[in-house]
Formats: sequence, C-alpha cells, structure tokens
Amino acid sequence: MGTKSRESIYGASIRAAAEQAAKARKDADRLAVAAWNMRMLGFQGPAQPSPTIGDALNAGYGYLEVRCLGCNTNQTVALDIVRRPKTTPVHELERYMRCKDCSQVRGYPYKRSHLVALRPTKISASDPPSTWWPGER
Ligand SMILES: [Zn+2]
Repeated sequence: MGTKSRESIYGASIRAAAEQAAKARKDADRLAVAAWNMRMLGFQGPAQPSPTIGDALNAGYGYLEVRCLGCNTNQTVALDIVRRPKTTPVHELERYMRCKDCSQVRGYPYKRSHLVALRPTKISASDPPSTWWPGER
C-alpha cells in the first residue's frame, strides 16, 4: 500500500482527459468554422457572429478569403500573421482589410471588402466550395 505515486495512479487518465478535451475543442472549432463558411458561401452572410482567429487556427483554417468590392478580386489573408489578438472574431477583420491595387489607384486606403470564407490553404475562389468542408484527416 502507498507505494504507487499519484502520478502513476492518476497520470494516465489525467492526460487522456486532457487529450479528449483538446480533441473536443478542435472538433467544436471545426464545426463552428464549417457553419460559418456555409453561411458565408451559401447566403453571403451575415458574417457576425464568427469564429475567433484562434478558433479558426485551431481548426486548421489559417486563411481568410476576402473579396475586394472595388476590383472584385479575391485575396487570402494569413490569420497567423494578422496583428490582432487571437480572441478577435474574424468578421471584425473586415474593416481592417485594404486592397493594395485599389488603394494605389485611388490614392487612399480602400477598405470596402466582403468576407468570403475561411480556408485551410492559401487558394483562390475558383475552387468549388464543397472542397472546403473539414473532414477527418
Ligand atoms: Zn481592389
């Protein structure tokens, strides 16, 4: 009696529980991103509420695709380099986005954009949206 440490008695189950929690969080984040993407791609919004930058990254979606309403081109923004707290909902990024080309042409920061969807990779909108539902890897 008493020879087993608490670590050997509880360690494995604590680690297993923590892993389960992490997996559940990731699953929840993936589902939240999928739901948001469906709303954006299917109905073009509303963008609010939206997953946070941290949730999107945790779900494996590192990019936000944005369409410039000035020149109608789509661009992807890497979420891991966005200088905002990870708790920022992605829809709040809309007002910070600016189109380089349109800003240059107009001579002032052009910020009218539409959020398209969260993307796991940097890629164009010509790919069919159905590719983007998160599946099991
Ligand atoms: Zn533009």
